[in-house]
Parts: sequence; C-alpha cells; structure tokens
Amino acid sequence: MANKSKFQAIKGTRDLLPPETELWTRVEQTARSVFGTFGFGEIRPPIFEPTELFARSIGLDTDVVSKEMYSFQDRDDSSVSLRPEATASVCRAYIEHGMHSLPAPVKLYYLGPMFRRERPQKGRYRQFYQIGAEVLETIQPGQTDAKSLDKDAAVDAEVIEMVMTFFARLGLEGLQLEINSIGHSAPECRRGYVELLRAELEKVKDQLGPDSQRRIETNPLRVLDSKLESEQALIAALPRIGDHLCEACSMQYAEVKRQLALRGVPFQENWRLVRGLDYYMRTTFEITARGLGSQNAVCGGGRYDGLVELLGGLPTKGIGFAIGEDRLILSLQEAGKADAPKGRDVYIAWMGAGVMPTAIRAAQALRNAGFRVELPPAEQKFGKSLGQADRLGSRYALILGEDEVASGQWTLKTLADGTQAKLSESELIQVLSASRG
Ligand code: AMP
Repeated sequence: MANKSKFQAIKGTRDLLPPETELWTRVEQTARSVFGTFGFGEIRPPIFEPTELFARSIGLDTDVVSKEMYSFQDRDDSSVSLRPEATASVCRAYIEHGMHSLPAPVKLYYLGPMFRRERPQKGRYRQFYQIGAEVLETIQPGQTDAKSLDKDAAVDAEVIEMVMTFFARLGLEGLQLEINSIGHSAPECRRGYVELLRAELEKVKDQLGPDSQRRIETNPLRVLDSKLESEQALIAALPRIGDHLCEACSMQYAEVKRQLALRGVPFQENWRLVRGLDYYMRTTFEITARGLGSQNAVCGGGRYDGLVELLGGLPTKGIGFAIGEDRLILSLQEAGKADAPKGRDVYIAWMGAGVMPTAIRAAQALRNAGFRVELPPAEQKFGKSLGQADRLGSRYALILGEDEVASGQWTLKTLADGTQAKLSESELIQVLSASRG
C-alpha cells in the first residue's frame, strides 16, 4: 500500500512506526530501569558538537572521522558535526560541569540517535540509535596506578555485567561476549607491540589488501580488524598482544577475567578485538547476537583512561560501552521477542445526537483508569463502529445509544465471543479493571 510521495526519508534513515515503536519503548524503559539499579543517571548531550571534539577524541585516522561524519560550517564559520557517538560528548560535559567534584565514580547513561555516513545495509544505518553508559573517575593526586588496577578491573567487570543483565532482562539469547586487553600506550606495552606488528606486517605487505597496506603506516592494530578472507591466514600468524602486555596491564586483564567469573558472566577471549576508535586502552569488549548476519555486533566498549585529559580535563579514568539499539531490536524480532501489537482495550460505539457528551465522559473515565480507548469523532452506525473496533484489535466495544444514556445501563460487548452485559458506569470500570488482572 506504499504510496510514492515526492519526499522520501533520506537513504540510511528510516521512520520507526507503531507497533514496532512499542518495542523500542520497552527496550529503552528496561535500559533505564536496569542501569538505575546499578546507580547510573541519565545524561542528554546535544546532537551536534564542534567537529574538533570528535576529531580529537575518536582519532583522525578512523573511518568515522575521516569519512563518515556529517559536518557543516555554522553561520559563525565554525565547523560542527552531528555526533557519530556520544562518549566524547559525555567527557566534554564531565569537564564542562566540573563533575570531577561529584562523588566518584560518576556513572552516566544516554540514549539517542547517532549519525555516520556508512554504506546502508541490514543493521547498518546512517541515523542509528545507541544506548550507552560511561563510568568516569578523576585520579586523585598521589593515587598510584598499581593500587587501583584491581579496582578498575572490578569496575570493568561490573559495567559488562550491567550490559549482560540488561540483555538478559530483555530475554535476548545466544549472545557472545568477547574480551581483550590492548594494553596501554607505553613502549614496554602496546607501543612496543605495535612496532613489532608493523615490522611483521611489512614482511607480508604485498599479500595484503590496500586498506591493510595503508594501515601498516597509520594504525597497524586496525589490520587485526580486517574481515578480508584472503588476509585471515596471515593475521592468524601475527604476534599477539597478550604476549606483549606490560606487567600491570597483564595483571589488570587477569583480574577482569577473575571478576567476570565471580559475577557469573561467561566470556571468550579474542586477541584480535582492538575496537575501531582510537581512545581505547586495556579492557575492550564486544557482544555479538544471533540472527543479524554480518552486522552482528550489538555492543562495543572499553576502557579509555586519558580521554578526558586529552580533551582538556584532569587525568581521569573511564570505561564505557555503546549498544546498537537498531540491531538489538532486530535481534529481538528475529528471536520472536517482539511485542504483539496492542490494539485498543475499549472502542466506544456511540450513536444518537444526544449521546456524544456521555461518550466523551466515558472515554475520559476509561482513559483516566489507564485503558486504551478509541472514540470515533463523529456519530456512525453501530455496524460500522463494530467493524472498526475489530480492525483495531479492540477487546471490548462499549455500546452507547439513546437507550443506554436514558437508563444509565451501558452495554459492554466482549468482541472475542460476542457476549454482552449491561453495566452502570462504575460497574464498567470495575469489570474492566478486573479483566486486566
Ligand atoms: P561503535 O560506537 O562503533 O563502537 O559501535 C557500537 C555499536 O553501535 C555497534 O556494536 C553497533 O551495534 C552499533 N552501530 C555502530 N554503527 C552503526 C550503524 N551505522 N548502524 C547501526 N548500528 C551501528
């Protein structure tokens, strides 16, 4: 029945419509409720920010910044961009509002649209929705890294536990959690490993595709992300970061695994999980779901100590994640966990010039009691009303004609079996409330 209109939603964007939006609402309410139980509060940053904020935090060499941002010159000639993700905004807000002086750690979550100019396909859109959370804690003067490693590991594990709790609450099954540690930037840790990786990649350079060849220079870790079939055997033979972590990172990683086990969160290790954005360090994780084809990552996250400082704040630890809500919804639908369309509880079939005031009053009373009510705006034949009530999936029709108004005894018809009962207004509310259970 689609009509070809002059205007259509822009490629990679879409309208979310009822009844599907009921599932979106349920997912978002569940997120709020589960995250609330872990002590997180909601932050709503703006949809656009200075381009420089994303360039600085996500990294100039990432696809997100170099190719995918929707950027434009504002009237004052500054460059602004639609947000491709929200971690940078949360960190900016943390600094801007002096949140380091709040009781630590500061735990924030957000929901909303993100924008990336990617090639659209199933599960990949140009306007997509993320549900994410961040835990930020500014390092106190004198606090030593070694002491807090175990604490950081417990925070990482709790954040992952929270995502898994959220997915479990939604009834999502067949999830796989993969974790890794990508160390920290020191020469005896990741930087040393990256040099080794670069040297090894140089040796096989002519067997790699153009993207990976370019990344040998710009960011060799990204080569590990490659999905190119022809590169898989070469990548499998490369040195692994786990063998080159410094002692602190390696201990922290071991503690994250112990903490996950303690919380009963099953995981798999994946040494190739480096994540697409530049600011990650140590713990990285990704969750994949069934039934999504190639775009099966529903959540990605990791630790990003240092990002707040990079953006001009105090040295601050951070860990967070972003869930792809579009994919989460797809996965729930594929698994048959989507909600059935709700229809109406009561359709008010009214007829007779003097009946409308009673019909309006009945609609108000029923809506105040929380029922979904359809009130036709103009008088129509009972037969037509009952047909519409059926098409809207109504459970009951409240039949109001002149007789009903005169006697104060209204007719309630149960549409599933056609039975009818005569009830006063107060009995009606009682009967309907009881049937709601
Ligand atoms: P990222 O911010 O790239 O770590 O992505 C986190 C999650 O957001 C991914 O695991 C996806 O579920 C989702 N996501 C990222 N890009 C898109 C997109 N273009 N369309 C739909 N979901 C996306």
